Amino acid sequence: MSAEVHGGRAKCLQRLIRMGMPVPRTMALSFDVVHRIAQGHLPDMEALLAPFGENPLVSVRPSSQDPDWGGPGAILNIGMNDTRLAEMIPVIGEWAATAVYLRFVQSYAIHVARLDPEEFYLPDVPDAVSLRAMLDTYELETDEPFPQDPATQLGEVLRSMARAWDGTTARLLRQAKGAPVDAGLGLVVQKMALGVGHGECGSGVIQYVDSATGQPQITGRYLGQSQGREALGDTDSALYLTKDPRGPSLEERCPEPFAQLKEYGELCRRKLREEMQVEFTIDDGTLHVLDAVRVQRSSRASVAIAVALAEDSIIPREEAVLRVEPSALSELLHRQIDPRATRDVIVSGIPASPGAATGRIVLTANEAQASAARGEPCVLVRRETTPEDIRGMHAAQAVLTMRGGVTSHAAVIGRGLGVPCIVGASDLVIDRKRGGIIGRDGRRFAVGDLITVDGTTGQVLAGSPPMLEAALDGAFQTLLAWADDFRDIGVRANADTPADAHTAQNFAAEGIGLCRTEHMFFDDERLGVMREMIFAESSDDRRAVLDRLLPMQRADFQALFAIMAGKNVCVRLFDPPLHEFLPADKAGLRDLAEQMALPLAAVTERVNALREYNPMLGMRGVRLGIAIPEIYDMQARAIFEALIAVQSQGITIDVEIMIPLVSAMREVELMRARIDGVANAVRAKKRAVFEYHLGVMVETPRGALRAQDIAEHAEFLSFGTNDLTQMTYGLSRDDAGRFMSAYVQQGVYAEDPFHTLDIEGVGELVSLGAERGRAGRPDVVLAICGEHGGSRSAIAFCREHKFDYVSCSPFRVPVARLTAAQLALQERMNA
Ligand code: PEP
Ligand code: MG
Repeated sequence: MSAEVHGGRAKCLQRLIRMGMPVPRTMALSFDVVHRIAQGHLPDMEALLAPFGENPLVSVRPSSQDPDWGGPGAILNIGMNDTRLAEMIPVIGEWAATAVYLRFVQSYAIHVARLDPEEFYLPDVPDAVSLRAMLDTYELETDEPFPQDPATQLGEVLRSMARAWDGTTARLLRQAKGAPVDAGLGLVVQKMALGVGHGECGSGVIQYVDSATGQPQITGRYLGQSQGREALGDTDSALYLTKDPRGPSLEERCPEPFAQLKEYGELCRRKLREEMQVEFTIDDGTLHVLDAVRVQRSSRASVAIAVALAEDSIIPREEAVLRVEPSALSELLHRQIDPRATRDVIVSGIPASPGAATGRIVLTANEAQASAARGEPCVLVRRETTPEDIRGMHAAQAVLTMRGGVTSHAAVIGRGLGVPCIVGASDLVIDRKRGGIIGRDGRRFAVGDLITVDGTTGQVLAGSPPMLEAALDGAFQTLLAWADDFRDIGVRANADTPADAHTAQNFAAEGIGLCRTEHMFFDDERLGVMREMIFAESSDDRRAVLDRLLPMQRADFQALFAIMAGKNVCVRLFDPPLHEFLPADKAGLRDLAEQMALPLAAVTERVNALREYNPMLGMRGVRLGIAIPEIYDMQARAIFEALIAVQSQGITIDVEIMIPLVSAMREVELMRARIDGVANAVRAKKRAVFEYHLGVMVETPRGALRAQDIAEHAEFLSFGTNDLTQMTYGLSRDDAGRFMSAYVQQGVYAEDPFHTLDIEGVGELVSLGAERGRAGRPDVVLAICGEHGGSRSAIAFCREHKFDYVSCSPFRVPVARLTAAQLALQERMNA
């Protein structure tokens, strides 16, 4: 018998029987047989029932290949009829026998004859009158008496279950869980162990670990005179399993069956290599095991269970690593809304940074900072965020924007900070005038009202639903340490601040793959100096202003280097267009005029002169390096001086300097000469020895096409797939949200290419760039550092093209480590 022919439940029952468990007589019908039943070809029912004796009483349960794919509900007590009732009354009593019959008529009426459930409730007192009433209702509704022949009953049950499997809803539900279109259903026919009658009779469910934590703990319930899973639904009368101060327990009432059940749990764990939930019945003191299914588990429990099984040598470590879904880890890293909570959804958007947080609505970064200063958690709601909002984002518990996609500013920063974030909530209205937001259904929430952002699902909820805390326990660390043993591609973090770097370090990133330095200049103190630098008339003036930024920038790098001791840190030189540092509104311009002691008109004119129609394609990245070289000079000097400072403390750091937005070899040649010049000057002045590597961020299509001659001047190429996607598609990463869902829904794009690396198009440029880069410099280091870096498809792609590492948001590092290990193990298994 195999799960592929008879389904997982049938296979599991066979194993329970082989392990010597008291499973009632069971017959399995294969996918083929059930398929034929669905088409109207019933097998010989008399022959099918023969093994169950003269007066058969059986149950039927579904058995799909993977139990997670579901199936129709079980039907018990098939074979009950008037004659059987009369026979049973003297044996188990009128009450018990009638209850069994009633239950069968009820489930047959609802699930087989598809009658209205409202008409078939179970009476409090199972007596002849209530039974007659139910049988009469059945007859009234169907114009036929309730079928009395067990073979007919079973035939109809089998037919209805087989057909239910083919229904559209069932099909869609299982396909959503990964089932193939042609997934089959097996059925299991089992002799009933009644659970009602004389002596100790009842049924229950037991599992040996806690579903929330995965820790060993016997949980479940037992209910006397009950069947199926009734014990779980009647917590008032049901018994605890182990001794419990809250009430009587199965352990005390039936020590022997309880001891047997405990033993079976251990047996399942060792032989089935899994934590199982066992369904059992006690019949006049004798235990029967009816079924066993994989314990339902939270993400946290799935990690704990896999690790414990491997630590007990029940499964190899490789299997433990393969058993945990990487996305489950990202749930563990963040607070989540309790799955049992009710969700009052205000509006939905694109889930851009996972985790959930509750706070009071604020509409500006300043209000967010003020709220944080008062110790009040807040959610920053913006049309979109700009670099000026960073401090507000830091101060907020969560961020919500109307515009933007998964690589927009809010999304990138949110992920970097580990702050839950939803972007592109286009149905949201921000009502600045009256101070509040309006949800999709027109409900208004004022500034100060509590809302909850669920960055994992993209839903914004009213109020503060209950949360589950993050859980980075020992099992999590152990699993990732094992994953690292199997992984064959590096994982670094995109980290800009000491806080990011600490997170990266905690998650064992192998270094920083992208430090975006521009975020360092938005601090109030620095912003003013930046603006003075932008307004400087001459190179000398600019240099003088930058000299004031130098010590701050040096301190930034020194802090990062100290945290990342012994690792690689890749610092990307300044990238954004300068106007991002200038005010956009009148009040801001007035402030600036005051600060610069210039007439408002002059300031406005200068600011307007810096405006560009397409700033993302304008004066940014290396273009600034060429046109205003003093900025990169200052940054290079700060990097080298910081390096010397940490080296003098005995810290080694492999420093890499990365040039953004390169599209021509000459850009690199010029920058290398300049930065080498700064390095030599610092070496001479400080009488110090240090090395560094210079590389290029490949994020323009031309950069990829010209990778060969670019690599002659660059020791590493790191593909910036955010800009590369933007430029390859000609698609604005900040505005694409407006039509992205229409595009994806109509199948124009299979996925949002900012979210899932477009292997066909952007990927072709990346692989071409990698190949050409290697032709220019065979030992060139290759990496990817766009937001795709931590995704499964991008990691698979990078492994395939023998990249050295991927770099992703710090909070994605554990997910990337596990994904990379799984890909390596799967490749090994398929070899
Ligand atoms: C990129 O373009 O892929 C990248 C990582 O840089 P940024 O997102 O800062 O433009
Ligand atoms: Mg970029």
